[in-house]
Amino acid sequence: MDGFLQSFWQYAYLLAAFATVFSIKWLNHPSTARRGVIIGEIGFALAIIGTLLRYEVVNYTGILIAIVIGAMIGAPMARLMPMTSVPQFTALSHAFGALAAALVGTAEYYYDFPAAPSGFKMVALTIEVLLGFLTFTASLMAFGKLQGLVPSPPITYKGQNFVNLTVLAAGVVFGVWPIVTAAPVWMYPAFVLICLLFGVMFILPIGGGDMPTVIALLNSFAGASACAMGFAMQNRLLIIAGALNAASGFILSVIMCKAMNRSFANVLFGAFGQVQEKAVGKAAARPVRSATAEDAAMLLVNSQKVIIVPGYGMAVAQAQHKVRELTDQLVKRGVDVQFAIHPVAGRMPGHMNVLLAEADIPYDRLHEMEDINNEFSECDVALVIGANDVVNPAARHDKTSPIYGMPILDVDKARNVMVIKRSMNPGFAGIENELYYDPKCLMLFGDAKSFLSEIVKEVNAQAPVHA
Ligand code: NAP
Repeated sequence: MDGFLQSFWQYAYLLAAFATVFSIKWLNHPSTARRGVIIGEIGFALAIIGTLLRYEVVNYTGILIAIVIGAMIGAPMARLMPMTSVPQFTALSHAFGALAAALVGTAEYYYDFPAAPSGFKMVALTIEVLLGFLTFTASLMAFGKLQGLVPSPPITYKGQNFVNLTVLAAGVVFGVWPIVTAAPVWMYPAFVLICLLFGVMFILPIGGGDMPTVIALLNSFAGASACAMGFAMQNRLLIIAGALNAASGFILSVIMCKAMNRSFANVLFGAFGQVQEKAVGKAAARPVRSATAEDAAMLLVNSQKVIIVPGYGMAVAQAQHKVRELTDQLVKRGVDVQFAIHPVAGRMPGHMNVLLAEADIPYDRLHEMEDINNEFSECDVALVIGANDVVNPAARHDKTSPIYGMPILDVDKARNVMVIKRSMNPGFAGIENELYYDPKCLMLFGDAKSFLSEIVKEVNAQAPVHA
Protein backbone atom coordinates (compact mmCIF):
# COMPACT_ATOMS: atom_id res chain seq x y z
CA MET A 1 0.00 0.00 0.00
CA ASP A 2 2.82 2.36 0.95
CA GLY A 3 4.50 1.60 -2.37
CA PHE A 4 1.28 2.34 -4.23
CA LEU A 5 0.83 5.67 -2.45
CA GLN A 6 4.43 6.59 -3.16
CA SER A 7 4.02 5.95 -6.88
CA PHE A 8 0.37 7.16 -7.04
CA TRP A 9 1.44 10.61 -8.16
CA GLN A 10 3.07 9.15 -11.25
CA TYR A 11 -0.22 7.49 -12.34
CA ALA A 12 -2.10 10.67 -11.44
CA TYR A 13 0.31 12.72 -13.60
CA LEU A 14 -0.04 10.31 -16.50
CA LEU A 15 -3.84 10.45 -16.35
CA ALA A 16 -3.71 14.25 -15.97
CA ALA A 17 -1.56 14.48 -19.11
CA PHE A 18 -4.09 12.37 -21.06
CA ALA A 19 -6.92 14.49 -19.66
CA THR A 20 -5.19 17.67 -20.91
CA VAL A 21 -4.85 16.23 -24.42
CA PHE A 22 -8.52 15.14 -24.54
CA SER A 23 -9.65 18.42 -23.03
CA ILE A 24 -8.00 20.44 -25.81
CA LYS A 25 -9.34 18.02 -28.42
CA TRP A 26 -12.93 18.20 -27.15
CA LEU A 27 -12.85 21.97 -26.63
CA ASN A 28 -12.52 22.16 -30.43
CA HIS A 29 -16.25 21.76 -31.08
CA PRO A 30 -19.29 23.26 -29.33
CA SER A 31 -21.00 19.85 -29.07
CA THR A 32 -18.06 18.37 -27.10
CA ALA A 33 -16.84 21.55 -25.37
CA ARG A 34 -18.60 20.88 -22.04
CA ARG A 35 -17.02 17.41 -21.94
CA GLY A 36 -13.68 19.09 -22.68
CA VAL A 37 -14.09 21.44 -19.70
CA ILE A 38 -15.05 18.58 -17.35
CA ILE A 39 -12.15 16.32 -18.38
CA GLY A 40 -9.80 19.31 -18.07
CA GLU A 41 -11.05 19.93 -14.52
CA ILE A 42 -10.60 16.24 -13.65
CA GLY A 43 -7.06 16.39 -15.07
CA PHE A 44 -6.19 19.42 -12.96
CA ALA A 45 -7.68 17.83 -9.83
CA LEU A 46 -5.58 14.68 -10.47
CA ALA A 47 -2.45 16.76 -11.00
CA ILE A 48 -3.02 18.67 -7.73
CA ILE A 49 -3.86 15.51 -5.71
CA GLY A 50 -0.87 13.67 -7.21
CA THR A 51 1.43 16.56 -6.30
CA LEU A 52 0.07 16.77 -2.75
CA LEU A 53 0.74 13.05 -2.22
CA ARG A 54 4.34 13.32 -3.37
CA TYR A 55 6.81 12.42 -0.66
CA GLU A 56 8.60 15.79 -1.08
CA VAL A 57 5.60 17.61 0.41
CA VAL A 58 6.18 17.78 4.16
CA ASN A 59 3.85 20.58 5.24
CA TYR A 60 0.28 20.99 3.99
CA THR A 61 -0.71 24.12 5.93
CA GLY A 62 0.74 26.68 3.51
CA ILE A 63 -0.63 24.75 0.54
CA LEU A 64 -4.14 24.63 2.04
CA ILE A 65 -4.10 28.35 2.78
CA ALA A 66 -3.03 29.02 -0.84
CA ILE A 67 -5.80 26.75 -2.19
CA VAL A 68 -8.45 28.49 -0.05
CA ILE A 69 -7.28 31.98 -1.09
CA GLY A 70 -7.11 30.94 -4.75
CA ALA A 71 -10.61 29.42 -4.63
CA MET A 72 -12.00 32.50 -2.85
CA ILE A 73 -10.75 34.69 -5.71
CA GLY A 74 -11.31 32.30 -8.63
CA ALA A 75 -14.83 31.00 -7.88
CA PRO A 76 -16.59 34.41 -7.62
CA MET A 77 -14.59 35.67 -10.60
CA ALA A 78 -15.85 32.79 -12.75
CA ARG A 79 -19.46 33.16 -11.60
CA LEU A 80 -19.81 36.95 -11.70
CA MET A 81 -17.79 37.72 -14.81
CA PRO A 82 -19.96 38.75 -17.80
CA MET A 83 -19.31 36.87 -21.06
CA THR A 84 -18.02 40.07 -22.74
CA SER A 85 -15.23 40.25 -20.13
CA VAL A 86 -13.81 36.78 -20.82
CA PRO A 87 -10.75 38.13 -22.72
CA GLN A 88 -9.57 40.35 -19.85
CA PHE A 89 -10.14 37.69 -17.22
CA THR A 90 -8.24 35.19 -19.36
CA ALA A 91 -5.40 37.73 -19.36
CA LEU A 92 -5.59 37.95 -15.58
CA SER A 93 -5.39 34.19 -15.13
CA HIS A 94 -2.40 34.01 -17.50
CA ALA A 95 -0.74 36.74 -15.45
CA PHE A 96 -1.01 34.70 -12.27
CA GLY A 97 -0.05 31.40 -13.94
CA ALA A 98 3.05 33.02 -15.40
CA LEU A 99 3.90 34.71 -12.08
CA ALA A 100 3.67 31.32 -10.33
CA ALA A 101 6.09 29.77 -12.85
CA ALA A 102 8.51 32.70 -12.55
CA LEU A 103 8.44 32.60 -8.73
CA VAL A 104 9.10 28.84 -8.70
CA GLY A 105 12.05 29.50 -11.04
CA THR A 106 13.33 32.23 -8.70
CA ALA A 107 13.06 29.90 -5.69
CA GLU A 108 15.00 27.22 -7.61
CA TYR A 109 17.67 29.76 -8.56
CA TYR A 110 18.23 30.74 -4.92
CA TYR A 111 17.92 27.16 -3.57
CA ASP A 112 21.70 26.57 -3.27
CA PHE A 113 22.66 30.25 -3.38
CA PRO A 114 25.39 31.57 -3.80
CA ALA A 115 26.08 28.47 -5.93
CA ALA A 116 24.01 28.87 -9.12
CA PRO A 117 22.22 25.86 -10.67
CA SER A 118 24.50 24.53 -13.31
CA GLY A 119 24.24 23.74 -17.01
CA PHE A 120 20.95 22.51 -18.43
CA LYS A 121 18.91 23.45 -15.35
CA MET A 122 20.13 27.05 -15.50
CA VAL A 123 19.14 27.30 -19.19
CA ALA A 124 15.63 26.01 -18.39
CA LEU A 125 15.34 28.37 -15.39
CA THR A 126 16.39 31.37 -17.46
CA ILE A 127 13.73 30.66 -20.10
CA GLU A 128 11.12 30.01 -17.40
CA VAL A 129 11.84 33.23 -15.51
CA LEU A 130 12.21 35.42 -18.62
CA LEU A 131 8.89 34.29 -20.13
CA GLY A 132 7.16 34.08 -16.75
CA PHE A 133 7.89 37.62 -15.57
CA LEU A 134 7.38 39.29 -18.95
CA THR A 135 4.09 37.43 -19.42
CA PHE A 136 3.03 38.54 -15.93
CA THR A 137 3.32 42.29 -16.59
CA ALA A 138 2.27 42.00 -20.26
CA SER A 139 -0.91 40.13 -19.22
CA LEU A 140 -1.66 42.70 -16.51
CA MET A 141 -1.30 45.43 -19.13
CA ALA A 142 -3.59 43.50 -21.51
CA PHE A 143 -6.13 43.18 -18.68
CA GLY A 144 -5.83 46.93 -17.97
CA LYS A 145 -6.36 47.87 -21.63
CA LEU A 146 -9.45 45.69 -22.00
CA GLN A 147 -10.89 46.75 -18.65
CA GLY A 148 -10.35 50.45 -19.44
CA LEU A 149 -7.78 50.91 -16.64
CA VAL A 150 -4.97 51.65 -19.14
CA PRO A 151 -5.61 53.81 -22.27
CA SER A 152 -6.69 51.45 -25.05
CA PRO A 153 -5.13 53.21 -28.11
CA PRO A 154 -1.54 52.26 -28.96
CA ILE A 155 1.04 54.38 -27.12
CA THR A 156 3.91 54.97 -29.51
CA TYR A 157 7.02 57.14 -29.75
CA LYS A 158 9.91 57.53 -32.16
CA GLY A 159 12.46 54.73 -32.01
CA GLN A 160 10.14 52.55 -29.89
CA ASN A 161 10.98 49.27 -31.61
CA PHE A 162 14.69 49.99 -31.15
CA VAL A 163 14.23 50.76 -27.43
CA ASN A 164 12.13 47.61 -26.95
CA LEU A 165 14.69 45.43 -28.73
CA THR A 166 17.52 46.96 -26.67
CA VAL A 167 15.69 46.17 -23.40
CA LEU A 168 15.00 42.62 -24.60
CA ALA A 169 18.64 42.18 -25.62
CA ALA A 170 19.76 43.42 -22.16
CA GLY A 171 17.40 40.85 -20.58
CA VAL A 172 18.86 38.07 -22.70
CA VAL A 173 22.46 39.11 -21.80
CA PHE A 174 21.63 39.23 -18.06
CA GLY A 175 19.87 35.88 -18.35
CA VAL A 176 22.62 34.14 -20.29
CA TRP A 177 25.45 35.48 -18.10
CA PRO A 178 24.88 33.10 -15.14
CA ILE A 179 24.69 30.17 -17.59
CA VAL A 180 28.12 30.95 -19.00
CA THR A 181 29.99 32.14 -15.93
CA ALA A 182 29.60 33.16 -12.27
CA ALA A 183 27.30 36.19 -12.04
CA PRO A 184 27.42 39.08 -9.54
CA VAL A 185 24.72 39.07 -6.82
CA TRP A 186 22.82 42.03 -8.34
CA MET A 187 22.48 40.40 -11.74
CA TYR A 188 19.51 38.13 -11.05
CA PRO A 189 17.29 40.89 -9.54
CA ALA A 190 18.28 43.15 -12.46
CA PHE A 191 17.30 40.36 -14.88
CA VAL A 192 13.89 40.07 -13.19
CA LEU A 193 13.31 43.84 -13.35
CA ILE A 194 14.19 43.93 -17.06
CA CYS A 195 11.75 41.07 -17.79
CA LEU A 196 8.98 42.89 -15.88
CA LEU A 197 9.74 46.15 -17.69
CA PHE A 198 9.81 44.49 -21.10
CA GLY A 199 6.33 43.02 -20.50
CA VAL A 200 4.93 46.56 -20.08
CA MET A 201 6.87 47.98 -23.05
CA PHE A 202 5.78 45.09 -25.28
CA ILE A 203 2.07 45.90 -24.78
CA LEU A 204 2.23 49.75 -24.91
CA PRO A 205 2.23 50.06 -28.74
CA ILE A 206 -0.59 47.52 -29.23
CA GLY A 207 -4.20 48.75 -29.40
CA GLY A 208 -6.85 47.37 -27.00
CA GLY A 209 -8.76 45.72 -29.85
CA ASP A 210 -5.79 43.52 -30.67
CA MET A 211 -5.52 42.30 -27.09
CA PRO A 212 -7.40 39.00 -27.71
CA THR A 213 -4.74 37.98 -30.25
CA VAL A 214 -1.97 39.12 -27.92
CA ILE A 215 -3.59 37.23 -25.03
CA ALA A 216 -3.48 34.02 -27.10
CA LEU A 217 0.23 34.70 -27.66
CA LEU A 218 0.77 35.38 -23.94
CA ASN A 219 -1.02 32.10 -23.22
CA SER A 220 1.60 30.48 -25.40
CA PHE A 221 4.42 32.26 -23.47
CA ALA A 222 2.95 31.15 -20.12
CA GLY A 223 2.79 27.56 -21.46
CA ALA A 224 6.41 27.73 -22.65
CA SER A 225 7.42 29.06 -19.23
CA ALA A 226 5.64 26.15 -17.50
CA CYS A 227 7.26 23.72 -19.96
CA ALA A 228 10.70 25.14 -19.14
CA MET A 229 9.82 24.79 -15.44
CA GLY A 230 9.05 21.11 -16.14
CA PHE A 231 12.57 20.67 -17.58
CA ALA A 232 14.14 22.55 -14.67
CA MET A 233 12.30 20.44 -12.09
CA GLN A 234 12.22 17.22 -14.13
CA ASN A 235 8.44 17.14 -13.98
CA ARG A 236 6.99 15.37 -17.02
CA LEU A 237 3.42 16.60 -16.46
CA LEU A 238 4.55 20.20 -16.58
CA ILE A 239 6.54 19.53 -19.74
CA ILE A 240 3.52 17.95 -21.49
CA ALA A 241 0.86 20.39 -20.27
CA GLY A 242 3.14 23.41 -20.80
CA ALA A 243 4.08 22.32 -24.34
CA LEU A 244 0.41 21.74 -25.24
CA ASN A 245 -0.49 25.13 -23.82
CA ALA A 246 2.36 26.83 -25.65
CA ALA A 247 1.52 25.18 -28.99
CA SER A 248 -2.26 25.70 -28.78
CA GLY A 249 -1.90 29.37 -27.75
CA PHE A 250 0.50 29.99 -30.62
CA ILE A 251 -1.70 28.20 -33.18
CA LEU A 252 -4.72 30.16 -31.96
CA SER A 253 -2.94 33.50 -32.37
CA VAL A 254 -1.84 32.49 -35.89
CA ILE A 255 -5.43 31.49 -36.78
CA MET A 256 -6.70 34.85 -35.48
CA CYS A 257 -4.10 36.78 -37.50
CA LYS A 258 -4.98 34.79 -40.63
CA ALA A 259 -8.71 35.40 -40.16
CA MET A 260 -8.00 39.16 -39.98
CA ASN A 261 -5.53 38.86 -42.88
CA ARG A 262 -2.90 40.55 -40.73
CA SER A 263 0.62 39.46 -40.02
CA PHE A 264 1.97 38.87 -36.53
CA ALA A 265 4.28 41.84 -37.07
CA ASN A 266 1.30 44.04 -37.95
CA VAL A 267 -0.55 43.03 -34.77
CA LEU A 268 2.51 43.42 -32.52
CA PHE A 269 4.17 46.45 -34.09
CA GLY A 270 1.51 47.94 -36.42
CA ALA A 271 -0.20 50.22 -33.80
CA PHE A 272 -3.55 49.24 -35.37
CA GLY A 273 -5.74 51.64 -33.32
CA GLN A 274 -4.00 54.65 -34.86
CA VAL A 275 -4.93 53.71 -38.42
CA GLN A 276 -8.55 53.74 -37.30
CA GLU A 277 -8.69 57.43 -36.39
CA LYS A 278 -7.47 58.49 -39.82
CA ALA A 279 -9.96 56.16 -41.51
CA VAL A 280 -12.93 57.55 -39.54
CA GLY A 281 -12.14 61.01 -40.85
CA LYS A 282 -13.06 59.89 -44.39
CA ALA A 283 -16.73 59.32 -43.55
CA ALA A 284 -19.03 61.45 -45.70
CA ALA A 285 -22.76 62.09 -45.25
CA ARG A 286 -24.63 59.77 -47.63
CA PRO A 287 -28.24 58.65 -47.50
CA VAL A 288 -29.09 55.29 -45.92
CA ARG A 289 -32.43 53.45 -45.83
CA SER A 290 -33.77 52.75 -42.38
CA ALA A 291 -36.78 50.61 -41.45
CA THR A 292 -39.01 49.74 -38.52
CA ALA A 293 -39.42 46.46 -36.64
CA GLU A 294 -42.73 45.99 -38.46
CA ASP A 295 -41.04 46.31 -41.89
CA ALA A 296 -38.33 43.88 -40.80
CA ALA A 297 -40.83 41.31 -39.50
CA MET A 298 -42.83 41.51 -42.73
CA LEU A 299 -39.74 40.87 -44.84
CA LEU A 300 -38.58 38.00 -42.61
CA VAL A 301 -41.84 36.06 -42.52
CA ASN A 302 -42.16 36.41 -46.28
CA SER A 303 -38.73 34.90 -46.82
CA GLN A 304 -37.85 31.32 -47.60
CA LYS A 305 -34.28 31.49 -46.45
CA VAL A 306 -32.72 33.82 -43.86
CA ILE A 307 -29.06 33.85 -42.87
CA ILE A 308 -28.31 35.51 -39.53
CA VAL A 309 -24.86 37.05 -39.05
CA PRO A 310 -24.10 37.76 -35.39
CA GLY A 311 -21.29 40.09 -34.29
CA TYR A 312 -19.85 41.92 -31.33
CA GLY A 313 -23.00 44.05 -30.88
CA MET A 314 -25.07 40.91 -30.21
CA ALA A 315 -22.65 40.07 -27.39
CA VAL A 316 -22.76 43.62 -25.96
CA ALA A 317 -26.56 43.66 -26.04
CA GLN A 318 -26.75 40.05 -24.74
CA ALA A 319 -29.33 39.53 -27.48
CA GLN A 320 -28.68 35.82 -28.08
CA HIS A 321 -31.90 34.67 -26.36
CA LYS A 322 -33.96 37.07 -28.47
CA VAL A 323 -32.15 35.68 -31.55
CA ARG A 324 -33.28 32.23 -30.47
CA GLU A 325 -36.90 33.42 -30.05
CA LEU A 326 -36.86 34.99 -33.51
CA THR A 327 -35.34 31.83 -35.01
CA ASP A 328 -38.03 29.66 -33.39
CA GLN A 329 -40.83 31.89 -34.65
CA LEU A 330 -39.47 31.99 -38.18
CA VAL A 331 -38.81 28.23 -38.31
CA LYS A 332 -42.38 27.65 -37.11
CA ARG A 333 -43.52 29.67 -40.11
CA GLY A 334 -41.51 27.51 -42.49
CA VAL A 335 -38.56 29.85 -42.96
CA ASP A 336 -35.16 28.19 -43.35
CA VAL A 337 -32.92 30.00 -40.80
CA GLN A 338 -29.16 29.47 -40.78
CA PHE A 339 -26.28 31.25 -39.01
CA ALA A 340 -23.02 32.43 -40.58
CA ILE A 341 -20.14 32.61 -38.11
CA HIS A 342 -17.07 34.65 -39.01
CA PRO A 343 -13.91 33.36 -37.27
CA VAL A 344 -13.14 36.77 -35.72
CA ALA A 345 -16.69 37.99 -35.09
CA GLY A 346 -16.89 39.43 -31.59
CA ARG A 347 -13.79 39.89 -29.50
CA MET A 348 -12.51 36.39 -28.82
CA PRO A 349 -12.31 33.13 -30.73
CA GLY A 350 -15.57 31.21 -30.58
CA HIS A 351 -17.36 34.24 -29.06
CA MET A 352 -20.48 33.82 -31.21
CA ASN A 353 -20.57 30.01 -30.88
CA VAL A 354 -20.52 30.28 -27.09
CA LEU A 355 -23.34 32.83 -26.97
CA LEU A 356 -25.54 31.00 -29.46
CA ALA A 357 -24.91 27.69 -27.66
CA GLU A 358 -25.90 29.40 -24.38
CA ALA A 359 -29.23 30.27 -26.04
CA ASP A 360 -29.65 26.64 -27.19
CA ILE A 361 -29.51 27.41 -30.89
CA PRO A 362 -28.86 24.01 -32.52
CA TYR A 363 -25.24 23.54 -33.68
CA ASP A 364 -26.34 22.26 -37.06
CA ARG A 365 -27.68 25.73 -37.89
CA LEU A 366 -24.22 27.29 -37.26
CA HIS A 367 -21.92 27.42 -40.29
CA GLU A 368 -18.38 28.59 -40.68
CA MET A 369 -17.63 31.34 -43.20
CA GLU A 370 -16.17 29.17 -45.95
CA ASP A 371 -19.09 26.70 -45.72
CA ILE A 372 -21.90 29.25 -46.01
CA ASN A 373 -20.47 32.13 -48.02
CA ASN A 374 -21.78 30.92 -51.37
CA GLU A 375 -25.31 30.53 -49.91
CA PHE A 376 -25.83 34.29 -49.47
CA SER A 377 -26.59 34.73 -53.17
CA GLU A 378 -29.58 32.41 -52.83
CA CYS A 379 -30.97 33.75 -49.54
CA ASP A 380 -33.82 36.25 -49.25
CA VAL A 381 -32.51 38.10 -46.22
CA ALA A 382 -29.11 38.40 -44.59
CA LEU A 383 -29.87 39.67 -41.06
CA VAL A 384 -26.75 41.24 -39.56
CA ILE A 385 -26.99 41.61 -35.78
CA GLY A 386 -24.31 43.89 -34.30
CA ALA A 387 -21.65 42.81 -36.80
CA ASN A 388 -19.75 45.40 -38.80
CA ASP A 389 -16.16 44.77 -39.93
CA VAL A 390 -16.81 41.11 -40.75
CA VAL A 391 -19.40 42.12 -43.37
CA ASN A 392 -17.66 45.19 -44.81
CA PRO A 393 -17.28 44.71 -48.62
CA ALA A 394 -14.35 47.19 -48.59
CA ALA A 395 -12.21 44.27 -47.39
CA ARG A 396 -12.60 42.77 -50.87
CA HIS A 397 -11.59 45.72 -53.06
CA ASP A 398 -10.44 48.85 -51.15
CA LYS A 399 -6.66 48.54 -51.03
CA THR A 400 -6.43 51.58 -48.72
CA SER A 401 -8.72 50.02 -46.11
CA PRO A 402 -7.07 48.72 -42.92
CA ILE A 403 -9.13 45.53 -43.31
CA TYR A 404 -8.26 45.02 -47.01
CA GLY A 405 -7.78 41.31 -47.67
CA MET A 406 -9.63 40.14 -44.54
CA PRO A 407 -12.02 37.36 -45.65
CA ILE A 408 -15.58 38.58 -45.02
CA LEU A 409 -19.09 37.18 -45.03
CA ASP A 410 -20.63 38.06 -48.42
CA VAL A 411 -23.91 39.43 -47.04
CA ASP A 412 -24.07 42.03 -49.84
CA LYS A 413 -24.80 39.17 -52.24
CA ALA A 414 -28.12 38.39 -50.51
CA ARG A 415 -31.36 39.65 -52.09
CA ASN A 416 -32.00 41.88 -49.06
CA VAL A 417 -29.77 42.90 -46.18
CA MET A 418 -30.93 44.14 -42.79
CA VAL A 419 -28.49 45.46 -40.19
CA ILE A 420 -29.34 45.94 -36.53
CA LYS A 421 -27.04 48.45 -34.79
CA ARG A 422 -27.51 51.59 -32.78
CA SER A 423 -25.94 54.18 -35.05
CA MET A 424 -23.66 54.66 -38.05
CA ASN A 425 -20.65 54.35 -35.76
CA PRO A 426 -17.82 52.11 -36.93
CA GLY A 427 -16.78 48.82 -35.36
CA PHE A 428 -13.41 47.60 -34.11
CA ALA A 429 -11.42 48.65 -37.21
CA GLY A 430 -12.84 52.19 -36.94
CA ILE A 431 -13.86 52.43 -40.58
CA GLU A 432 -17.00 53.24 -42.47
CA ASN A 433 -18.99 50.31 -43.80
CA GLU A 434 -20.08 50.80 -47.42
CA LEU A 435 -22.63 48.00 -47.00
CA TYR A 436 -24.94 50.44 -45.17
CA TYR A 437 -25.21 52.63 -48.31
CA ASP A 438 -26.12 49.70 -50.57
CA PRO A 439 -29.69 50.34 -51.90
CA LYS A 440 -30.77 46.84 -50.84
CA CYS A 441 -29.60 47.38 -47.25
CA LEU A 442 -32.09 48.37 -44.55
CA MET A 443 -30.71 49.83 -41.33
CA LEU A 444 -32.61 48.85 -38.19
CA PHE A 445 -31.33 51.40 -35.69
CA GLY A 446 -31.50 50.38 -32.05
CA ASP A 447 -30.06 48.17 -29.34
CA ALA A 448 -29.95 44.60 -30.68
CA LYS A 449 -31.92 43.08 -27.79
CA SER A 450 -34.72 45.67 -27.76
CA PHE A 451 -35.00 45.76 -31.54
CA LEU A 452 -35.17 41.98 -31.77
CA SER A 453 -37.89 41.97 -29.08
CA GLU A 454 -39.89 44.34 -31.25
CA ILE A 455 -39.35 42.18 -34.33
CA VAL A 456 -40.40 39.02 -32.45
CA LYS A 457 -43.61 40.79 -31.34
CA GLU A 458 -44.32 41.86 -34.90
CA VAL A 459 -43.55 38.37 -36.29
CA ASN A 460 -45.98 36.89 -33.78
CA ALA A 461 -48.61 39.30 -35.05
CA GLN A 462 -48.07 38.19 -38.68
CA ALA A 463 -50.01 35.30 -40.20
CA PRO A 464 -47.87 32.24 -41.02
CA VAL A 465 -46.89 32.26 -44.69
CA HIS A 466 -45.15 28.94 -45.38
CA ALA A 467 -47.07 26.85 -42.81
P1 NAP B 1 -17.34 45.16 -34.93
O1 NAP B 1 -16.81 45.41 -36.29
O2 NAP B 1 -16.53 45.58 -33.78
O3 NAP B 1 -18.77 45.91 -34.89
C1 NAP B 1 -19.62 45.72 -33.81
C2 NAP B 1 -20.83 46.63 -34.05
O4 NAP B 1 -21.75 46.32 -33.02
C3 NAP B 1 -20.52 48.10 -33.93
O5 NAP B 1 -20.45 48.72 -35.19
C4 NAP B 1 -21.64 48.66 -33.05
O6 NAP B 1 -22.33 49.68 -33.75
C5 NAP B 1 -22.56 47.47 -32.83
N1 NAP B 1 -23.08 47.42 -31.47
C6 NAP B 1 -22.45 47.64 -30.31
N2 NAP B 1 -23.29 47.54 -29.28
C7 NAP B 1 -24.50 47.23 -29.81
C8 NAP B 1 -25.78 47.00 -29.26
N3 NAP B 1 -26.02 47.08 -27.93
N4 NAP B 1 -26.81 46.71 -30.10
C9 NAP B 1 -26.59 46.65 -31.44
N5 NAP B 1 -25.40 46.87 -32.02
C10 NAP B 1 -24.37 47.16 -31.20
O7 NAP B 1 -17.73 43.65 -34.70
P2 NAP B 1 -17.61 42.37 -35.64
O8 NAP B 1 -18.25 42.61 -36.97
O9 NAP B 1 -18.07 41.23 -34.80
O10 NAP B 1 -16.05 42.25 -35.95
C11 NAP B 1 -15.11 41.90 -34.95
C12 NAP B 1 -13.90 42.79 -35.06
O11 NAP B 1 -13.06 42.55 -33.92
C13 NAP B 1 -13.09 42.51 -36.31
O12 NAP B 1 -12.54 43.70 -36.81
C14 NAP B 1 -11.99 41.60 -35.77
O13 NAP B 1 -10.81 41.65 -36.56
C15 NAP B 1 -11.77 42.18 -34.39
N6 NAP B 1 -11.13 41.22 -33.46
C16 NAP B 1 -11.75 40.05 -33.21
C17 NAP B 1 -11.14 39.11 -32.39
C18 NAP B 1 -11.78 37.77 -32.12
O14 NAP B 1 -11.08 36.88 -31.63
N7 NAP B 1 -13.05 37.60 -32.40
C19 NAP B 1 -9.92 39.41 -31.81
C20 NAP B 1 -9.32 40.64 -32.08
C21 NAP B 1 -9.96 41.54 -32.91
P3 NAP B 1 -23.16 50.79 -32.94
O15 NAP B 1 -22.22 51.41 -31.99
O16 NAP B 1 -23.64 51.71 -34.00
O17 NAP B 1 -24.28 50.09 -32.25
